Amino acid sequence: MTRFIFITGGVVSSLGKGLASAALGALLQARGYSVRLRKLDPYLNVDPGTMSPYQHGEVYVTDDGAETDLDLGHYERFTGVPSRQSDNVTTGRIYQTILQKERRGDYLGGTVQVIPHVTDAIKDFVLADTEGTDFVLVEIGGTVGDIESLPFLEAIRQLGNDLPLGRSLYIHLTLVPYIPSAGELKTKPTQHSVKELRSIGIQPDLLLVRCDRQVPEAERRKIGLFCNVRPEFVIQALDVGSIYDVPLSYHAEAFDDRVLEAFGIPEGAPPVLKRWEDIHERVTSPEGEVNIAIVGKYTGLKDAYKSLAEALVHGGIANNVRVNLEWLESEIFEDEDAVVHLEGVDGILVPGGFGKRGVEGKIAAANFARTRKVPYFGICFGMQIAVIEAARNLAGLHGASSTEFGPCDDPVVGLMTEWLRGNQVERRTASGDLGGTMRLGAYEAHLKPGTRISEIYGGATTIHERHRHRFEVNINYVEQLEARGLLFSGLSPDGVLPETVEIPDHPWFVGVQYHPELKSKPFDPHPLFAAFVRAALAQSRLV
Ligand code: GLN
Repeated sequence: MTRFIFITGGVVSSLGKGLASAALGALLQARGYSVRLRKLDPYLNVDPGTMSPYQHGEVYVTDDGAETDLDLGHYERFTGVPSRQSDNVTTGRIYQTILQKERRGDYLGGTVQVIPHVTDAIKDFVLADTEGTDFVLVEIGGTVGDIESLPFLEAIRQLGNDLPLGRSLYIHLTLVPYIPSAGELKTKPTQHSVKELRSIGIQPDLLLVRCDRQVPEAERRKIGLFCNVRPEFVIQALDVGSIYDVPLSYHAEAFDDRVLEAFGIPEGAPPVLKRWEDIHERVTSPEGEVNIAIVGKYTGLKDAYKSLAEALVHGGIANNVRVNLEWLESEIFEDEDAVVHLEGVDGILVPGGFGKRGVEGKIAAANFARTRKVPYFGICFGMQIAVIEAARNLAGLHGASSTEFGPCDDPVVGLMTEWLRGNQVERRTASGDLGGTMRLGAYEAHLKPGTRISEIYGGATTIHERHRHRFEVNINYVEQLEARGLLFSGLSPDGVLPETVEIPDHPWFVGVQYHPELKSKPFDPHPLFAAFVRAALAQSRLV
């Protein structure tokens, strides 16, 4: 019997609805239930794949090749349940589906309308692919009151009646601000937000109120009274030191008990929270620290590298150290010497990226790491950068570059127009659509035995990692580069696409064409991040 939990947000955005959903998922899981988490996004893009990181933060990629909202990353990091294409939908995708049907004539001459056609399509999405799951948590993006979210709210309102009694629950997340001049916590924004929600027919069962300090019992009673919610179902969500403390903090407020109570499920045994207690311990009392420089392009917006930042925290957890991140805008190296900024860091990471701006700065950072023997981790673009740097400065190919930035003498990185996915050939053209056409999702890679990369993966020679890129390192340059010390340690199963590179004669220099950060979890740190932080720790002890 599947139960549905709908999570909406009010008052302001960025209250951490995604984290709240993920943490509730983790708590239900800790009580032995199976969970799925999904997100309804009200914007008109078909998916976030074509959006700038400045607009939308990171694009999270699933095994099945969907480009999704970054909240799906939180869901996976907290529950370990791999997200799927069917876990994220946008208004754009809903309309695309409906309009295709309309053009085919599937509506048999009928007028196509928001109610019932759009709302039905949303409901189909919510209910699809949920068999055998105890709880499906559905987060609705945006804030109550937005015009765009109305069809989604209407759809989840309808679902409350469509589903059998006692199978759905509405949780609303709001803010209770503290006004210093009055010295008081204010409940009015919450009251207004719930009023808005009730005006469209949704009565929340449970309120989660974000606050930077304790919300006294009297205030919670008042919120309950004005919002028509039982006072004990008004749960405070206090700010915590680390996001991985959220499940523990929610449990302390009996959030999970109340959710089960609302469904009429007997409380049963308390959740097993050892996993989260261990992480809390490691995050709050590290035994050392390392300093990692991230040389990227979107460093002004941390959400642009959300999974990466979390994976580095996980690498710290694996080594019992705190990882301090220094975000460096790569363009600065084009005017100033990289040395000034990178001297003294314990590791350098060049993450994924697109386009020409800042590239020369990243190449300078890779050069610094290689020549000064500082641990280097190149992810996707960061691997391509390392190859360009080695081609220019080790192999003497001065015109080496990527065709992503225009024609060049030595295209050591080039556009891939044809590749194999299993036995299937995928094709692209230079002038084709940009949306959804990269090499996306999980692909198999073969690692050469005895290499550093294989050793990092515990001796494995076959791995599956998630990809999101249009360009590939050019296999035709492999011999020339290997002769100069850059080893191509991992390739696609057909041997055509370089997947990993390393420099054996270096303390730790690894580039990977995929995005390992997407699969790292606090309770299961990705081996590459664990190994990189370990190498940085060794480096920090050298100086
Ligand atoms: N811009 C590069 C490409 O498209 C790298 C992409 C990435 O880092 N995700 O191949």
